[in-house]
Parts: sequence; C-alpha cells; structure tokens
Amino acid sequence: MNEDCIFCKIVNGDIPAFRVYEDEHVLAFLDITQGTRGHTLLVPKKHVENAYGLSEEDAAMLFKRVPKIARAIKHAFDPIGLNIINNNDQPLQSVFHVHIHLIPRYASDGMVLSMKDRQDEYGKEDYEAVRKAIKESLGH
Ligand code: 5GP
Ligand code: ZN
Repeated sequence: MNEDCIFCKIVNGDIPAFRVYEDEHVLAFLDITQGTRGHTLLVPKKHVENAYGLSEEDAAMLFKRVPKIARAIKHAFDPIGLNIINNNDQPLQSVFHVHIHLIPRYASDGMVLSMKDRQDEYGKEDYEAVRKAIKESLGH
C-alpha cells in the first residue's frame, strides 16, 4: 500500500470504483474516463509503479488475468476489437501503479490508435542495429 497512490486507495476500498473482477492478487475496475464503453483497468493489488518494476512472478500474476477480462468485455459489448495497452513512464503514464487498459473498440468510436508503418525507412542494417541494441541490453 502506497499512501499517495490512487489505485492503492481503490484496491483498499478507501475510494470508490466500479469493480468488475477481484481475486487475491488483482482488481479490475472501470476506467473513470470510459474512453470507450467498457474501458477497464486491471491492476495488481500490490503497489508496483510500472512494468519496469514488475518481477516475473508479479507480471505472470497480472497478465494471466487479461484473457478472462477481455473475454468478459467481448461477451458484454460485442466490440469490433479490443486494445490491450500498458503505459510506462511520463508523459504516457499518469497513474504510477502499474495497470493494463482493456479498451473495447467500436466502429467510429473516435479513438485513435494506429501504428505507423516505417518499413520504407528500414533496411536490413537498421533492423540489425535495433535488434543488437535490445539484445545487448537484455543482460542489464
Ligand atoms: P495511464 O495514463 O496512467 O495509462 O492511465 C491512467 C488511467 O487511470 C486513466 O485512463 C484515467 O482515466 C484512470 N483514472 C485516474 N484516476 C482514476 C480514478 O480515480 N478512478 C478510476 N476508475 N480511474 C482513474
Ligand atoms: Zn499503488
């Protein structure tokens, strides 16, 4: 429990939330913004700031609940698809208690989330340089 953390307070029941799923290790509740209808957050009950700080065990604990919540949202709202997003560090992350967004998508829902295709800018050497940078960092 982190006294300054809004999601710890929600986990603890100190501030209200629309709770959709809960077990010993995780809590899922509606994101207050409802970017789309059914937008849900999944959090570990234990306070960890973001994905960088998750142990493998905590990550497994958290991510293994994703399909259950995803299926429930799909069943409830019949979306055309569902985005699963996790933001880490400012400016992307606004609440520093790790969370996974489950965002059902609907035709013309006004949400913009598209990957840019930069294949034209990448040659074999570029991919190789990127691969090498990540691979070399894996040991750190
Ligand atoms: P982030 O930007 O860190 O990935 O996402 C944080 C999310 O938490 C935002 O989508 C925001 O709407 C949601 N949020 C922030 N404060 C509260 C709150 O008090 N209650 C609920 N249910 N959601 C919150
Ligand atoms: Zn917290």
